[in-house]
Amino acid sequence: MRSEITIDLGALRRNVQTLARALDGAEVWAVVKADAYGHGAVDCAGAALGAGAKTLCVATVPEALVLRAELPSARILVLGPASNREVAQARDAGLALVVASDEIPEGVAVHVKLDTGMGRWGMSELGSPSREVVGVMTHLATADTDAVFARTQVERFRAATEPVAHLIRHVANSAAALRIPEARFDAARCGIALYGLSPFGTDPAEDGLAPVLSWTSEIAQSKLLRAGESTGYGRRFVAERDTWIGIVPVGYADGFRRDLTGTEVRVGGEHRKVVGTVSMDATAVELDRELPPGTPVTIVGPGVALEEHARVAGTITYELACGINSATTRARRVVLDAA
Ligand SMILES: *Cc1c(COP(=O)(O)O)cnc(C)c1O
Repeated sequence: MRSEITIDLGALRRNVQTLARALDGAEVWAVVKADAYGHGAVDCAGAALGAGAKTLCVATVPEALVLRAELPSARILVLGPASNREVAQARDAGLALVVASDEIPEGVAVHVKLDTGMGRWGMSELGSPSREVVGVMTHLATADTDAVFARTQVERFRAATEPVAHLIRHVANSAAALRIPEARFDAARCGIALYGLSPFGTDPAEDGLAPVLSWTSEIAQSKLLRAGESTGYGRRFVAERDTWIGIVPVGYADGFRRDLTGTEVRVGGEHRKVVGTVSMDATAVELDRELPPGTPVTIVGPGVALEEHARVAGTITYELACGINSATTRARRVVLDAA
């Protein structure tokens, strides 16, 4: 097997409990869209509910239907828009829908979305809600980066929804759940923090979170480059002196992106740099000596944070996690389910 991805559901349960403590009475809703940010939606949804999350949130009706087949009694909320056909499916499957316009479908539980500053989906004003409407929500643009603007959005929302305070009101994402108490209302829609990744791009331990996903592989081959020889497409790494490199059989098709050149992984317990161009199926690391085939490589795990890879790639952990293929034929997927 080229690599192994381990999903630690015990860590996910502890993250749910950490969020519940931070929320001080407001409900944790588990956001498991995009296959639980690449972690596996059915496994993560079940574990999150078992740890006390009250509702599952996904982006699309098809995502919700996959969960419904496995979890017949779960509360499931679809955050994104639905076509007419999907509204009918949602009704049949007992899903709740977020609606961002004043056309409220009948016979299905609806949460109305207000735009208080995200400038994306949502209505600018709340009309008088029909009886299908059970909740009202908004989404924060800067909970992770600008708490002042986030609080402005929270106050706009509070003022706009005061007349319907009997409905379920929800505003917070992970960042707000952890650090903006005013955003709590009745529930928080938590995604990234469930997976033990920091919404702030810093060390998740700062917020009491533990990463759920780890990713390991091994050195498939060590090779001595003589001075002037190169590795990989485009000859982007040319050895200045005799240099051992190790080839790891993982590349961008597995989710180890091309812009991760220069990041570090752990090889046999030591930090080693990724050099040259990451190719579809292989990545080179610079070694200080020859290592035998089979030497373990930690791509993501203890001592190798996804936040650090995101910094090197100029992106966020969300995007990297979504790209890691945990359910393909390329990686072995191991689910740890210790209670
Ligand atoms: C994806 C999403 C969330 C979860 O955000 P995190 O930062 O991952 O916690 C919450 N609300 C909405 C509307 C979303 O689309």
